[in-house]
Amino acid sequence: MEALKSVVLIGKSNPAQVGDGFFIRRPMPSAAIGLGDISPFLLLDHAGPTAFAPAKQRRGVDVHPHRGFETVTIVYEGELEHRDSSGSSGKISAGDVQWMTAGAGVVHEEKHSQAFTERGGTLEMIQLWVNLPAKHKMTTPKYQEILAAHIPSVSLSDKGTFARVIAGTFEGHTGPAFTFSPILMLDLRAKSGDLLEIPVDEGYNTSLYVLKGSVQTEDQRKIKEAELIKFTATGRAIRFEVLEDSKLLLLAGEPIQEPISSYGPFVMNTKMEIQQAIADFQSGKMGILE
Ligand code: MN
Repeated sequence: MEALKSVVLIGKSNPAQVGDGFFIRRPMPSAAIGLGDISPFLLLDHAGPTAFAPAKQRRGVDVHPHRGFETVTIVYEGELEHRDSSGSSGKISAGDVQWMTAGAGVVHEEKHSQAFTERGGTLEMIQLWVNLPAKHKMTTPKYQEILAAHIPSVSLSDKGTFARVIAGTFEGHTGPAFTFSPILMLDLRAKSGDLLEIPVDEGYNTSLYVLKGSVQTEDQRKIKEAELIKFTATGRAIRFEVLEDSKLLLLAGEPIQEPISSYGPFVMNTKMEIQQAIADFQSGKMGILE
């Protein structure tokens, strides 16, 4: 048995609305979990599940910039479309992941797809903000459009529990995402009654978010929907019992031990870099989206 990571705290989510298309719960950042507390992960927005009636006008978030980090969008249900100032655009649906490196800067919009808007239905997605090491903050923006078919799935029990490996290596399977710092990201679908032990590297910041269902940790704490468990970086595995069929997201990674200065959609290392980001956005240097 590996030395287990223990629970540091359990963070609750705050409800919020992003644009007119995303009704979210946000466990991070929050009063309990600050912007750098689970570095390299900065933010977790869990949108939905929300039922949308058929409509003509696409809902979502209008044009806005980013610099200095990555946005990772995992779609669980529904379909999203994005469009940015470099001319890139794309569509992702259930099971797909979009890993966008904003780097030096992009200006984009994030909307429900036209087809989803017209037929209506349930939308559920997670958007993460993942920090970039200082030396990569001004890297050229890029997208990784990771389709469900390219995400390896690993069976974890005869009850049907499985993990999809989005980033990092788990049980000999390596996820397709390229990352700028070492990360393990698992989409877990866990069956009631399973006792799971998941190896996570020593020194990695480690957290587990419950999208649906509930789990119980080694210290007998029950974690419910929309709560985020922060574990110690020390230890080589996490262990928990699945109390009901659950949908979980494991986020772990080597901490980026650098100062954070943030303002709205910009996450840099210093205040001066933030001022530069605002000036560059205002003068159109991050591009313009008509
Ligand atoms: Mn965005």
